[in-house]
This record gives sequence, structure tokens and C-alpha cells, in this order.
Amino acid sequence: SLSRQFSSTASINMAPISKECDYLVIGGGSGGLASARRASGLYGAKTIAVESKRLGGTCVNVGCVPKKVTFNAASIAETIHEAKAYGFSVEQTAPFDWTTFKHKRDAYVKRLNGIYEKNLNNDKVEYIHGRAHLTGKNEAEIVLDDGSKQTIKAKKILLATGGHPTIPQNIPGSEYGTVSDGFFDIEKQPKKVALVGAGYIAVEFAGMFNALGTETHLFIRYDKFLRSFDPMVQDAITAEYERLGVHLHKQSSQSKVEKDPKTGKLSLHYKDSNGEGVLEDVDSLIWAIGRSPEVEGLGLEKAGVKQDAKGRIIADEYQNTNVENIYSLGDVVGKIELTPVAIAAGRKLSDRLFGPSKFSTSKLNYDLIPSVVFAHPEVGSIGLTEPQAAEMYGKENIKVYNTSFTAMYYAMMEQDQKGPTKYKLVCQGPEEKVVGLHILGLGSGEMLQGFGVAIKMGATKADFDSCIAIHPTSAEELVTLK
Ligand code: FAD
Ligand code: NDP
Repeated sequence: SLSRQFSSTASINMAPISKECDYLVIGGGSGGLASARRASGLYGAKTIAVESKRLGGTCVNVGCVPKKVTFNAASIAETIHEAKAYGFSVEQTAPFDWTTFKHKRDAYVKRLNGIYEKNLNNDKVEYIHGRAHLTGKNEAEIVLDDGSKQTIKAKKILLATGGHPTIPQNIPGSEYGTVSDGFFDIEKQPKKVALVGAGYIAVEFAGMFNALGTETHLFIRYDKFLRSFDPMVQDAITAEYERLGVHLHKQSSQSKVEKDPKTGKLSLHYKDSNGEGVLEDVDSLIWAIGRSPEVEGLGLEKAGVKQDAKGRIIADEYQNTNVENIYSLGDVVGKIELTPVAIAAGRKLSDRLFGPSKFSTSKLNYDLIPSVVFAHPEVGSIGLTEPQAAEMYGKENIKVYNTSFTAMYYAMMEQDQKGPTKYKLVCQGPEEKVVGLHILGLGSGEMLQGFGVAIKMGATKADFDSCIAIHPTSAEELVTLK
């Protein structure tokens, strides 16, 4: 009939393919994938996951994974530098082939992308590559790579779209710089780099560049970096970077960036504690001043999802947004921007939404989350800093144990080759419950996890002391603190 013909023409021209599911996950990063796989693989919910770039998100592609591999390269450079002290006849600095290393690192990440896709398949999550936006409370539209569209009706929707690095808006020429994403595209080892920022990324990248032999300038707004960490960490790591030869520009700001059209090299106009200056011949300038939520074009207003002043999606402790059946977690809510936090929140949410009734109040406990900065040396932290504990419990109700020593690794080395080791235990109340642990030194990254378990279980100073030391290690100092 005429009407049938009309509707079928209309459906070809207008209506995109339409699908329905129990759970639509927007964002195939740490949090989204973990939640999707648990919902489908364990509980059998019909789940669709949408990713616009590469599977695995920030951590796998431009974050933790390629960062740690580069950190390993930097650590090897340090070891080569130190090997002579142990009797090896090696050059103090061995040539490093950045380009070959970079391509091997890319290939590793690509392998991981494939593994992530296979895992989704194994857990029967339908994977769609495209960009999604909400079109209503229970529906979204996906724009596929070829420009075609799909609409999806979903009983529940998870927004796990992560974030992107922030670029300063008011510095002329700031676009000549890059951000952490661009770091992983650098094909040739830069001779000279400038990093702006004072957090995890600036400190990790500056440490790696410096260890690999690039002239490294770090611009910070105040006198120290990692200012959210315990003062002991701030002081020790800032001093250590200066000792290692990182050019620190304290109390600095940037006014202009220029690019030489012939050489492509940058000039950075700045002010620091020594006055005004221009840093010339910069191969790469990296802004590492924090991250912003990835919400542009996500259609939050269509569904009425609320955001905070910084644009982050507001979610409660159960990851509920203000809109029923729409949830959010990970970097886009920006509470604690770490991969294991996004993963744990994603799994807990799927337990609660799709699991047995015993999980009906399942949620992530955001207290006592350990983290490590892969600095030189590594820094680890869990719980309260000393000032935070003093403010929370009163100075008279906390007891702080400190130690500072030279790790045995340095015994074979000259004085000027010896790095610091510093540990701090913050205890509260007469029972001396451990409420904060801060460590800086070789191997801190691997050390913290086990101590984190103890602290999470409520360990006291006496519990620490009751564990026999492992000798000779650095970690043993933590069970013999006086
Ligand atoms: P993401 O992993 O960012 O995933 C979000 C995904 O959503 C992205 O893949 C994005 O493409 C996709 N997306 C966004 N919008 C849409 C849309 N509209 N449609 C479809 N897809 C969309 N954490 C650690 O724990 N340890 C570390 O060592 C560490 N190192 C880091 C180093 C760097 C340089 C950086 C930048 C971060 C690092 N992090 C580290 C932090 C960690 O990467 C993040 O906390 C984590 O990836 C957050 O996971 P997520 O799922 O919230 O977001
Ligand atoms: P962070 O929030 O850690 O640090 C950014 C810092 O840059 C700020 O704290 C601030 O320090 C400084 N800053 C802010 N604005 C400016 C400005 N305009 N000019 C100069 N400096 C500025 O952000 P990152 O980008 O380093 O990392 C994002 C997050 O990713 C981290 O917080 C962390 O959660 C995660 N991450 C985790 C890693 C890990 O686990 N090892 C590694 C890398 C990232 P100040 O106030 O002192 O100036």
C-alpha cells in the first residue's frame, strides 16, 4: 500500500538503525569497560559499550601503561649510570634510541587494544566504535566513523567518558605546546623540553626526560611541586629534582610562546623567582596543569544531567547522577582520577544494578586509596598527610614517626650519587592507629600496596612493629620506626 511504501522510504532516509539494551556504557576506558564486562559477563545484562577513540581509554593509550613503560626505560638509564659504581665497565651514558623504543611501545599498546576487544567479545558485550550523545533520559545516538547514526534505547546508561588535558587559554601561542597525549607521539628524543605544571604528570614526565638525558625545564607556580602530598614529600622530591639537574623555575608564569617557522623550535617567555626570561630552542613544551571532564557534545542537557562548576558530572556515592537510571564514574566525575578507582567504581556499580540482592547497597569506599607518583625516586602515599591529620584529630592526638636514610643500594656509590629515602607514619589516638603513610625512595611503588592492605584493615603502630623485618630492605624501616 501507499502508506507502507511511504514509511519504508522514510525509514531508509531518516530513521537510523535502532537497538535496545539493558545497559549502555558510553566510554570504553578503565571504568566503562570494567562495568560493562561485569554487567554482561557475570550477570548477563544485555550491554552495549561505545568508544570513539581507542579501547582502553586514557590509561592504556596515553596514560599509565605507555607512561610506565617509559618510566622503566628511564630507570634503566639511571641503572646504567650507576653500574660503574658496582664494578661494571659500561659507559656512564649509553645511547638511547628513542624512536625504536617509541615504536615498540606503540606496538605494545596496540596489542593491548586487541586484547580489550577480545575481552569484550568473551563477555558478550556488544562494542560499537563511534561517538555517543544522549538524546533523552533512556536513549542515545551514536555517530559512527562513516557518519551514519544508530539510536539506542537503554534501561540504564553509564557515562564514563573520562577527561582531557587542560590547555591554558590566555597565553598567546599556547597552542604551540602539547599535552600529555602529545608526549606519546614524540618521534625523536627532544634535546630540550619545558613542562608547565606541578602535579603527577609534570613530575613524572620531567623525571623521565631528565633521566633519559633531555635538558628539562619544569615551570611551577610556587616553590614546590606535588603540593597535595605530605610536606615531607614536597620538600624531598623538589630538592631531589634540583640535585638531579632538572631546571626548576619557581614562582613562575608564562606570558607568550613563539614558534620559529624554519626550525619549528619554540621560545617560552616567562617570569620566575629570578625575574623575566625567555627559554629558547625548546623542542617540546608540555602543559601538564590538570585535566578537564570530557563532556562536550555529550547531550547532558537533553537528559538533564547536572554538572558542577568545572563541568564535571555530579554523581553521589553510589555513582547515581541526578537523573534516574543514568550513572557516572571515573575521571568525568573527577573525584579521584586513578584507573583502579574507575575500575572498582564500575564493578561495584554493576554489582549493585545487575547483581544479586546482597549487592543492593554495593558502592566504592573512597577512603584510604593508595597512589604512587612514578617520580625519581618513586613517591607513595595513602591516607592523611600530617597537616590533614592534625586538623582532623588535633595536633595533640596524633603521633608522627619519621625516618630518613640512605638505601643500601647506594653503598657502593660516591656521595653525590646517593638519592634520598624518607618515610613517615601518621598515627592517631592512644592506640596509634595508622591514618597516613608517606614514602619516598627506590621501590616505593611496589612497597605501598602491601602496607595499604594493612592500613585498610585498621593496623596500628603496634601491628606494624609486630611484623618481623625483612632484612636487608628499605621497607623494613617501616616496621622498626622509633
Ligand atoms: P578514560 O580512561 O579516559 O576513558 C574514557 C573513554 O571515553 C575514552 O577512551 C574516550 O575516548 C571515550 N569517550 C569520551 N567521550 C565519548 C563519547 N561521547 N562517545 C564515545 N566515547 C567517548 N592512573 C593510575 O592509576 N596510575 C597511573 O600511573 C596513571 N598514569 C597516568 C598518566 C597520564 C599521562 C594520564 C593522563 C593519566 C594517568 N592516570 C593514571 C589516570 C588514569 O589514566 C585515569 O584515571 C583513567 O584512565 C580514568 O578512567 P575513565 O574510565 O574514567 O576514563
Ligand atoms: P594534577 O591535578 O595532579 O596537577 C596539576 C597541577 O598543576 C596543579 O595541582 C597545580 O599545582 C598546577 N597548575 C594548575 N594550573 C596551573 C597553571 N595555570 N600553571 C601552572 N601550573 C598549574 O594534574 P595532572 O595533569 O598532573 O594529572 C591529572 C591526574 O591524573 C592526576 O591528578 C592523577 O589523579 C592522575 N594521574 C595519576 C598518575 C599516577 O597514578 N601515577 C600519573 C599521572 C596522572 P600548583 O597548585 O602547585 O601550581
